[in-house]
Amino acid sequence: MEDKRRKRMGGQSGGSFQKRDSLRERSKISLERRKKQIRGKIILINSALALVIIMFVLVGKVVSLNRHGGEGIEVAGRSGKQAEAESEKKDSKKDSSKKSESTPTPEPTPVATETPDGSVQWIRKDLDDSKPMVALTFDDGPYAPVTERILNVLKKYNSSATFFCVGNRVPNYISVIEKAYEQGCQLASHTYEHAILTKLKKKKINWQMDQVDKVMEDVIGCKTTALRPPGGAVNDTVKNTVKVPMVCWNVDSEDWKSRNKKKILERCTSIGDGDIVLMHDLYPTTADAVEKLVPRLVKEGYQLVTVDELFYYKGIEAKGGTVYFSGK
Ligand SMILES: [Zn+2]
Repeated sequence: MEDKRRKRMGGQSGGSFQKRDSLRERSKISLERRKKQIRGKIILINSALALVIIMFVLVGKVVSLNRHGGEGIEVAGRSGKQAEAESEKKDSKKDSSKKSESTPTPEPTPVATETPDGSVQWIRKDLDDSKPMVALTFDDGPYAPVTERILNVLKKYNSSATFFCVGNRVPNYISVIEKAYEQGCQLASHTYEHAILTKLKKKKINWQMDQVDKVMEDVIGCKTTALRPPGGAVNDTVKNTVKVPMVCWNVDSEDWKSRNKKKILERCTSIGDGDIVLMHDLYPTTADAVEKLVPRLVKEGYQLVTVDELFYYKGIEAKGGTVYFSGK
């Protein structure tokens, strides 16, 4: 470019001073032009950078609002403080609804006593006291594969039974205990560790009883109202220490001994009104027998009841520390 201009200028007539001045002016002008161009470029780059930063800030805000549960975009147009306050409110609402959903079992109907004992749940008031009643009882569980089968057949025939549970097994079978409770079956104590109570002193007997009530309260919200002493073993110390009625049996199915459905059913042929039948919800053969026995007894006109129902309808005022063998 410069060479061309010089050639053109060289062809024109005029002094060398003039030539030099015009050259200087022209180069000045072209310098200023360049400076202007560079300034323009710098301004462009700066504004582009500013735009990119603004974009980043905006994207960051949208993402953080979305983390509050999807309501962010909806409330983004309002003032920041208002939006945050509302999303906090929504979050706290969600928390409280979650808490109510995770409640394991419904609370039993309120009773006058400070510590509920489940007696309201375990006595149906609509039974017919002119019809015969039998209390089936199951020791040593819970054990889901057997206990659930027994619960299913009881439910099908609108019947109840009593489960004398070993306390330290309860945490392993919480849903089974909840199911039994919701069906109206009685949950009673068989001590915490299947302890032979006649071998224990007062303090340890109390511990066995209290521990069962603790685990039961955790699951169903109430204490037990009856004890079946393991092995039926009772002495004066046990009688003076235990504060609930002690419930033994007058019909022994010997299910633990035979583990045979036919033999268990044979042992149950002589069942009559007011009987308390001993079984164990540990053996599948016991569930096999119960699946036959329940429909048979219902067909014969028996009402299958809890121990508390049997005492209630037979007019027995069961006392703490006393042993009962039947509802007769
Ligand atoms: Zn036992």
